Amino acid sequence: MVRIHSFESMGTFDGPGLRLVVFMQGCNFKCDYCANPDTIKRSGGRLVEKDEIVRRALSEKAFFGKRGGVTFSGGEPLLQAADLLEVFQELKEGGIHIVVDTNGAVMNDDVRRLLEYTDMVLLDVKGVDAAKHQALAKHRNEQVLKTAKYLEEVGIPVRLRCVMIRGRNDSPEDIRLIGETYRGLTNLDRVEVLPYHTYGVHKYEAMGWPYLLEGVKEHTPEEVDRLSEEFEKYFPNVWTQ
Ligand code: SF4
Repeated sequence: MVRIHSFESMGTFDGPGLRLVVFMQGCNFKCDYCANPDTIKRSGGRLVEKDEIVRRALSEKAFFGKRGGVTFSGGEPLLQAADLLEVFQELKEGGIHIVVDTNGAVMNDDVRRLLEYTDMVLLDVKGVDAAKHQALAKHRNEQVLKTAKYLEEVGIPVRLRCVMIRGRNDSPEDIRLIGETYRGLTNLDRVEVLPYHTYGVHKYEAMGWPYLLEGVKEHTPEEVDRLSEEFEKYFPNVWTQ
C-alpha cells in the first residue's frame, strides 16, 4: 500500500506532455508558501493498493502521447520510495514515462533504487542561503545540492523548480546564489521560475493552521519578467508560468 493525497488526470504543469499526477501524502518540509498543506501530515490522505496506481496509469496511457506519463508529486514522494519501487517497475514495464517532483532532501538506498526507474526529476530549489531556506521550509538544504549532483552523476534529466516569494528568496543575490550553485549541471533540462500564488490560503483556514505569508503580495507580470531575466543570466533555458 502507498499513502496518497489524490490523483489528477490530464495534468499539464508537472513534467512534459499530458500526465497523470499522483499527489503523495506526507512531507518532511513545511514550507510557508505550500499550496498543498493538506499533503504535509504523514498520517493524512488515504492508503491505496499499488495496483490501483498502475491500473489507472495504464488506462490513461492513450492520452499521454509521446511525451506524457505519470508524475509523482506531493507531499514528498521519496519518503515512500521503498513502497513505490514495485509501482515504478510495473509502470516501466508498461512503457510509461515517470517523473518525480521532489524537494531533494531524501536520499537513501531505496531512493537510489527508485531513481533507476525515473525518467526525469523536478527538483524544487527554494534557495541556497542556509538560514533563509531553514526559515522558509523549516528544513535544512544541504542534501538538495547533493541530490542535484547525484542526479547529474546518474544522468537523469532535471528541471529545477524555483518558487519565488517576495522578500524571502527573490533578490538578485538569492538568484545569483542559485545560478552559481546549479548552472554547471550537465543534466539540466530547464529552470522553471514559479511566482508565489495564494491559491492554497483557504486550505490553511480550513485546517486551522496560521498562514505565515499573510500580506505578502504576488509578483506582478513585469516583476516575473524581471525575475526570469535574472535567471537567464545563469541558465540558457528558463521557463515561467
Ligand atoms: S516541499 Fe513541497 S509539499 Fe513539502 S511543504 Fe514544501 S511546498 Fe509543500
